[in-house]
Amino acid sequence: MIPYGKHYIDEDDIQAVVDVLRNGALTQGARVAEFERAVAEYVGAKYAVAVSSGTAALHLACMAADIGLGDDVFTTPNTFAASANCVLYVGARPQFSDIDPHTLNIDSDDLYRCCRTSRNAKVIILVHFAGFPCDMPRIREIASEVGSIVIEDACHALGARYGDGSRVGNCRFSEMTVFSFHPVKGVTAGEGGMITTNNEHLLQRLMKLRSHGICKGNFEFPGISVADNTIMKPESALEGSELRPWYYEMQELGYIIGLQTSNAHWQYLS
Ligand SMILES: *Cc1c(COP(=O)(O)O)cnc(C)c1O
Repeated sequence: MIPYGKHYIDEDDIQAVVDVLRNGALTQGARVAEFERAVAEYVGAKYAVAVSSGTAALHLACMAADIGLGDDVFTTPNTFAASANCVLYVGARPQFSDIDPHTLNIDSDDLYRCCRTSRNAKVIILVHFAGFPCDMPRIREIASEVGSIVIEDACHALGARYGDGSRVGNCRFSEMTVFSFHPVKGVTAGEGGMITTNNEHLLQRLMKLRSHGICKGNFEFPGISVADNTIMKPESALEGSELRPWYYEMQELGYIIGLQTSNAHWQYLS
C-alpha cells in the first residue's frame, strides 16, 4: 500500500537538531533566519518569513492583506481545510470557484466569472494542487482587472516550476506565497510554515504579526502620541537621543508565530 505520508530523516538531520539542542536558542534563533534565507534564495523571492505551520502562514498572509468583515476571498474547494479557514480567521467570507478536472487546480474561467459577480473580491487564494502550478499569468490578469491581491497556497509545491521555468514562490505573479513543512509535504521540519514575498511593507507587517505585534527599533509610529498630537518617547526609553536596546512597543494585536486564531470569524459564523 502507498502510505499517505512517510518522512525521510537521515543522520545529518538528527545531528542538526542535536546541535541546536546543545548550543542554540530553542525558538526564533539563528537557524530560523538561515532557513528563511535558504528558502528565499531557492525559490527566487526577496524575503521569507518562517512561522509555526502552513496554516499560520495563511492566517498571517490574510491579516497582512488587510481583509476582514465584508470582504470576499475566492479560493478552490479542492484543497486542505486551511486554505479557506484562514479567511474565516480574519472575519472575511470564503467563496469557492470550480476546478479544472484535468489539472485539479482552480479553473481560471470560472474564477473570472465568480470574481466579476462579487463587488468585493479582495483576495484570490489558489492552490498548486499536488505541486502542479496554476495558470499564474491568467490569474494575475484576473486579479488586476478585479483589483484583488493574490496569495499562492504552495504547501504542495516547494520545488515546482511555472511554465516559464522559474520557481513557485518567487511571487512574480502574486503578493505572497505560502509553504508548509508538515511531515506529509515535500520537505518537513516536523511542523512549520513560510511566507515568501517581494514586498517590503508586507515583510514588515508579517514580521510584526508573528511576534505579538511587537516592534523593536524600526517603528512605523515613532512613539507615544500625547494630547496636542506631538509624538514623543517616554524619557525612560531614551539614552541621550538613542533608544535603549530593551525598548519595544506593541503596535497592533499579533500572535506568537501565528498559531492562535482571532475571534473575528465568530462574528461571520453567527
Ligand atoms: C498542508 C496544507 C496546509 C496547511 O499546512 P500545515 O503546515 O499542516 O498547517 C494548507 N494548504 C494546503 C494546500 C496544504 O496541503
